[in-house]
Amino acid sequence: MPAINKRYIVFICPRCGLPRYSRSEQKNAKCFGCGYQIPIKSFKVRILLRTDSRSEAVKAVKDYKMKICSGIRESARQRR
Ligand SMILES: [Zn+2]
Repeated sequence: MPAINKRYIVFICPRCGLPRYSRSEQKNAKCFGCGYQIPIKSFKVRILLRTDSRSEAVKAVKDYKMKICSGIRESARQRR
């Protein structure tokens, strides 16, 4: 089965950079961060992961958020 047919996708909001997941058959998904209706099928949207497992999708979102947070902390430390 091609990867396209996975049930969930994890992607990055092109406006604010927050990750979220959604059912892959949806056309749009509202961003929790900025309220933007993200056109999931758009080539501008960065897909992090496609998966059949909801828990895997949730985990990928969490992991990405952690990465963003540690990245911010890292750059703050470098400025000192
Ligand atoms: Zn957003």
